[in-house]
Amino acid sequence: MKSKTDVLIIGGGLVGCATAYYLAKKGVPVTLVEKGQLNRQASGQNAGSLHFQLEFRMVHFWKELEKEMSELIPLSIESEKVWATLEQELQADMEVLQHGGFMVAETKEELELLKKKQDLENRWKLNTVLLTGDEARKIAPYLSKNIIAAAYCPIEGHANPRLVAPQFAKRAAEYGACIRTDSGVTDISRNNGKWEVTIKNSDVYETEHIVFAAGAWIEDLAKMIGLHVPVYPVPLTMNVTEPVMPFMEHMVQHAGKRITMKQVRDGNVLIGGGWSSRFVKKNGKIDFNQLPMILPDVVRENCTIASELVPNVSYLRLLRSWPGVTGITHDQLPLLGEFSERKGIWVAAGGSGFTFGPLYGSILSDLITKGSTDFEIEAFRPGKLAHLNLFMS
Ligand SMILES: Cc1cc2nc3c(=O)[nH]c(=O)nc-3n(C[C@H](O)[C@H](O)[C@H](O)COP(=O)(O)OP(=O)(O)OC[C@H]3O[C@@H](n4cnc5c(N)ncnc54)[C@H](O)[C@@H]3O)c2cc1C
Repeated sequence: MKSKTDVLIIGGGLVGCATAYYLAKKGVPVTLVEKGQLNRQASGQNAGSLHFQLEFRMVHFWKELEKEMSELIPLSIESEKVWATLEQELQADMEVLQHGGFMVAETKEELELLKKKQDLENRWKLNTVLLTGDEARKIAPYLSKNIIAAAYCPIEGHANPRLVAPQFAKRAAEYGACIRTDSGVTDISRNNGKWEVTIKNSDVYETEHIVFAAGAWIEDLAKMIGLHVPVYPVPLTMNVTEPVMPFMEHMVQHAGKRITMKQVRDGNVLIGGGWSSRFVKKNGKIDFNQLPMILPDVVRENCTIASELVPNVSYLRLLRSWPGVTGITHDQLPLLGEFSERKGIWVAAGGSGFTFGPLYGSILSDLITKGSTDFEIEAFRPGKLAHLNLFMS
């Protein structure tokens, strides 16, 4: 069967669902196709952190990523504006809480790093303040005595990842978007000046625009149009404790260790921060389509750090650990915009995609409908990969 649509979005995670919503709201005929079910990959598996101050995964590589960090701060500020009104926009409670977040330091070296970080953030107009350990404990008495300082960002927070993408999809459908699950894309070709997208080797969509919103699987889609797009799949681990009475109002991360933690509305403490799980192999090769394996030592170490930073956590029972796969880029910056080599093919990927997903969707909808966006995205344009694709026809 052959159908037509103005925009075909590939991927039913947060990026795809948000893009479908903002386009449909503008009256654009849009179809979203998802290989499995909506929100079953990174967008529904993540830690739900709304990261607005710079994260450990960047500050840890200060020398290598200083320029990239400067590019990212304005995006964080813009993203916060979207989250601040998102529940109103989507008319739903998605457990969005912005009670502030800490990046803590336990050593002098980590304190020096926090000073540099705060200086850079303040230069780019992101409001973070540096507190002593005692000042931090006044706001957050649950923090360990070992913490000597903390960067505090009052707008940080978290939301429930199980609710956000589905709500975008629901509202997109109400505005007329067609959402198809169990509809994996198996081929993309160019015919008579239009793109043709084949679903499950049978149905075909003819379209002007295609949005690659396939997260860690974007590289597979890019190969269908003869481009190299390096989005690397990485396997991560999340942990959650039993629920307890509220005691922890903020998000907590660390300047020198991989950790994020927060207490969600149901009372559970979510513990993550970029610890690995392990991809499994099939016929001697890593199989990116299978759920990665949880590594017990990693769970132990992640939870030990959590208990050291917030001693109350050491009394809690671990309920569950789960793996998830996300896509990262070589410079830790997003890829956002149209491919200069393939007109009408758009992408949004990389970065802290739960935090930025709604903004990516909003920006893509402006770019596709108006050809421009009010927000500066030069550093994120896929044109920066042109040198990789010089020889790809
Ligand atoms: C454990 C973990 C914790 C994280 N914690 C945070 C956090 O706290 N804060 C934060 O900001 N970010 C976090 N992230 C990152 C964040 O979750 C991702 O960046 C974001 O969800 C990416 O959204 P997406 O829609 O691009 O991708 P996904 O949610 O992965 O969605 C992509 C979709 O594309 C579909 N697809 C793939 N190939 C095809 C095809 N050929 N045809 C049709 N559909 C296809 C997939 O089935 C999938 O549903 C975390 C990620 C993980 C895994």
